[in-house]
Amino acid sequence: MAETFKNFIGGEWVDAASGKRFENRNPADWNEVVGTHPDSDAGDIERAVLAAAKAFKTWRLVPAPKRAEILFRAGQIMAERKEELARLMTREMGKVLAETRGDVQEGIDTAFYSAGEGRRMYGETTNAEMPNKFAMSIRLPVGVCGMITPWNFPMAIPTWKMFPALVCGNTVVLKPASDTPATAAKLVGVLADAGFPPGVVNLVTGGGGRVGTPLIEHPSVRLISFTGSSEVGRRIAATCGEKLKLCSLELGGKNPMIVMEDADLDLALEGALWGAFGTTGQRCTATSRIILHEKIADSFTERLVERARKLRLGNGLEPGSEVGPLVNKGQRESVHGYVQIGLKDGAKLLTGGKAAAGPGLENGWFYEPTVFGSVTPGMRIAREEIFGPVVAILTVKSLEGAIEVANDTDYGLSSSIYTRDVNRAHIAIRDIEAGITYVNGPTIGAEVHLPFGGVKDTGNGHRESGRQVLDVFSEWKSIYVDYSGKLQKAQIDDVEIQ
Ligand code: NAD
Repeated sequence: MAETFKNFIGGEWVDAASGKRFENRNPADWNEVVGTHPDSDAGDIERAVLAAAKAFKTWRLVPAPKRAEILFRAGQIMAERKEELARLMTREMGKVLAETRGDVQEGIDTAFYSAGEGRRMYGETTNAEMPNKFAMSIRLPVGVCGMITPWNFPMAIPTWKMFPALVCGNTVVLKPASDTPATAAKLVGVLADAGFPPGVVNLVTGGGGRVGTPLIEHPSVRLISFTGSSEVGRRIAATCGEKLKLCSLELGGKNPMIVMEDADLDLALEGALWGAFGTTGQRCTATSRIILHEKIADSFTERLVERARKLRLGNGLEPGSEVGPLVNKGQRESVHGYVQIGLKDGAKLLTGGKAAAGPGLENGWFYEPTVFGSVTPGMRIAREEIFGPVVAILTVKSLEGAIEVANDTDYGLSSSIYTRDVNRAHIAIRDIEAGITYVNGPTIGAEVHLPFGGVKDTGNGHRESGRQVLDVFSEWKSIYVDYSGKLQKAQIDDVEIQ
């Protein structure tokens, strides 16, 4: 049964003022309408931002440990509703149930981790250079934060942004991706049930241009936190730059996995399959390039192709399904377009390369797990983010060569190396240009208490998760308290040492 979802503004569930709605369909069975959602516009954003600005006046004054108590409650509610949330997520974006449970779990972890900050959120006390003077720095909230999120982690990514922002004392307007508004609405429902006051969290659904743009441009929004493609991120950064807004960007990836000849190859094979085809390859951290040492390249490729062919595609709600569909028709066309580009550029299609057919797959956006061999670093399939179940295999002669190929991309999010040689592992850790390096693990699997983000075109220098995310959602204030009772001039007055 299709559910009717609403926006959440100022503590009320409301329709778009225009009354317009859009449909959210199941990518594993496009005949199923999961729900309908408000197709909002600039007017709805205006109301949400005003509600958030009004709420900020009081929310910022609530002691952080009290803000955190509400967040702890939210984490508990999410844990109680985990199965229901995961099943809805699988219906709206397709990834298999084990993975949507993981997505919700990441949100729960983020709730508890961020809530812990309510009793930390440390500033610094330090020494002043003048006598009888006290110096310290503290974190203060930024204000109204606009958040724009993608569809591949419909729960985890909004929580990575909202939870630290809220515990820091900010208020939020969330615009989720149009492919996954239902999970976002349920998450906001959890936050309302947990007790966040009206206006502290607001949700407005609709298209990127019609809803995202007015949110970014609104003068009362001080900060934009965006996760999505580098193309859209670049435009958002330009607008934020012009308006001098704070802007945190988490963008695309073209993540390499290096497999050296001394590696545990069985382990590397499991990692390659999980990294390349988990979430149907639709992860910013997906393994999209496998860089093999020439000594093991042929045998490893053969085994990878054999295993890729055996992966069970299907509706993510059915036990036994290992790979779900792509998120929508456009995504399948885009992935297939890249397969054609790979062929044209001279790569060798070893398996896959077409829409998947078979019982239970007729009405979904399924695509065969695809492996390309004979890929060279200059080819577009080795350079551009495909965001689908397509992996490119490149062959190298040495560790240095592998690292050079790994770094030969505009992106720098995740990376991995399989080797038993600790020296090689450390050289890779030092020299691969990426925000994350795994040793003997695939490129996916981040944990919420470490910083998450990338270098080069993957972002603009900020990190989510870990305690580093607090730097995004708070402003530093330095405080000097002079208790000398006289005017002391820093850098000018000499301090007499008796
Ligand atoms: P997208 O850039 O198309 O959309 C992301 C969000 O931006 C959506 O909510 C969309 O509606 C909105 N949007 C689109 N155009 C806009 C505009 N002009 N103004 C304002 N908002 C706009 O990305 P997607 O297809 O939803 O997600 C896939 C991309 O996200 C991939 O590139 C992937 O690598 C990236 N991603 C990055 C991370 C990370 O943490 N680095 C995590 C997940 C996904």
